[in-house]
Amino acid sequence: MRSSSRRWGDVVSRLFAFFAALFLLVSPALAEKRIALTFDDVPRGRGAFFTPDDRTTRMIAALKRAGVSQAAFFVTPGNLASADGAGGEKRVEAYVRAGHVIANHSFSHRHLSTTDTAEYIDDIDRAETWLKGRKGRRAWFRFPFLDEGRSDKVKRDAVREALKARGLRNGYVTVDGADWNLETLTAKAVQSGKSIDMAALRDLYVETMVQAAEYNEKLARQAIGRSPTHVILLHETDLAALFISDMVAGLRKAGWRIVTADQAYADPIGKVSPDVPSAQGTLTEALAWERGLPAPRWYERSAPRIADPIFANRVLKEGSASGK
Ligand SMILES: [Zn+2]
Repeated sequence: MRSSSRRWGDVVSRLFAFFAALFLLVSPALAEKRIALTFDDVPRGRGAFFTPDDRTTRMIAALKRAGVSQAAFFVTPGNLASADGAGGEKRVEAYVRAGHVIANHSFSHRHLSTTDTAEYIDDIDRAETWLKGRKGRRAWFRFPFLDEGRSDKVKRDAVREALKARGLRNGYVTVDGADWNLETLTAKAVQSGKSIDMAALRDLYVETMVQAAEYNEKLARQAIGRSPTHVILLHETDLAALFISDMVAGLRKAGWRIVTADQAYADPIGKVSPDVPSAQGTLTEALAWERGLPAPRWYERSAPRIADPIFANRVLKEGSASGK
């Protein structure tokens, strides 16, 4: 009797040790996935559903509801002169009052690869003049279109030097799910009077952004052997205003922790400037290229030719069964 209970005690303590070891093995992978949210092209023109003012109010409320204490908004001050620009300065200030931070996305949103270097740097300075002295300003520059000069290394290096000389750093991203494409497809569908399955649209938005994060997490682990604190590229869209808290819930369900933009840009991954044949896209992709990982090194739905049929099939109930 006594020896059998000792055996049981032995089995129980071995089982305990086994599960403790398993937990230690698994928990870092679960606990270490961190991501910050960033929104580009602020103040953006109107989308399918809301006025820009209404959208900002909804965005702020949704981020608060989701418990996102600090996201970054990358500002393109040239947008203030557009038809929807009225009140844009107040909208930027409202984000800052809600605890979020703002940074430079150039004045007029040009491609570096097709713009004269001096003009491009002037455009950065113009945006910085607008941002200087504002509350919530961070010294980060987000390249429009993530175009860092593509194959023109002279241009790439000139702008990298110009940023350094100005005390600005690259506001890189590690995750891109091409949220702007879903926004464009939605606006087009609304304009042409098509009926939209809003629940399907929400599910597609959330699924696409979570998959983009998971894809880049895996790629980053392969490239640098650890999980960096990620930065997801989003835009100030109606879809974000509608679904950002669902997206955050989806990320948390997949084991992600939402961190501040300040925490994300403190990750040492931001100190590297990869040397790749074409400087564009996410930092994860560039690191994967540099470390010789095989193609493809980008999340498939960031290509409209792959995302569009999925949208048509699931949100508009059009097309064949090809959309999964
Ligand atoms: Zn942009």
